[in-house]
Amino acid sequence: MNPNDATPSPASSSTPYAIDAEGWCAAARRVPSPNCDPRAEGMTVDLLVIHNISLPPGEFGTHYIEDLFCNRLDCDAHPYFEQLRALQVSAHFLVRRDGSLLQFVATVQRAWHAGVSRFGEREQCNDFSIGIEMEGTDTTAFEAAQYRTLAGLTQALQARHGFGDVAGHDHIAPGRKTDPGPFFDWAAYHALYLQAASAPVQGAAMSAGAAPLLRFTGRISGA
Ligand SMILES: [Zn+2]
Repeated sequence: MNPNDATPSPASSSTPYAIDAEGWCAAARRVPSPNCDPRAEGMTVDLLVIHNISLPPGEFGTHYIEDLFCNRLDCDAHPYFEQLRALQVSAHFLVRRDGSLLQFVATVQRAWHAGVSRFGEREQCNDFSIGIEMEGTDTTAFEAAQYRTLAGLTQALQARHGFGDVAGHDHIAPGRKTDPGPFFDWAAYHALYLQAASAPVQGAAMSAGAAPLLRFTGRISGA
């Protein structure tokens, strides 16, 4: 077959992280969590919240995070898990150390990740945000593969939901939460996001490629 006969790829193929109408990402392994509920009528997604988690803390690659988010964590398996008993939490996404992606809650639904929180004048950030967990801790650097996945996912989520802000859990719950922590590289994340957001659409003519305006609270505050 003559390569010139090839059908141009549709624009949607430019990102593997595209979010569908129901709020699911095809590139993610789907692990549905019961810890979610509908957003209020007419509520838009205005904020992306970045977290870190590892279970037990500092141990990577275990199945305990998805167990926790699906209310099936064996709390006798590790002493640390005792404090998680009866906890009902979730996030929309988890980015593992190797950059692979899990999705627990559709983005059109409310996940239970922020807790008591405030962004600007608005409280209860779960109502209007999407939560992404980076597998990690407050005391270890994150992997390059994680930033690449996070940046691509951020671009796709912004394209789907049109939110204008990205913040850390520590920014919306100061004094109570410290994640994603001082080892989370906001500058690297921002640079990779700009790259992902300005990449020319496959099969389309080169455009100006202006990235949508997205404010990174962590980068601005230098946290
Ligand atoms: Zn958090």
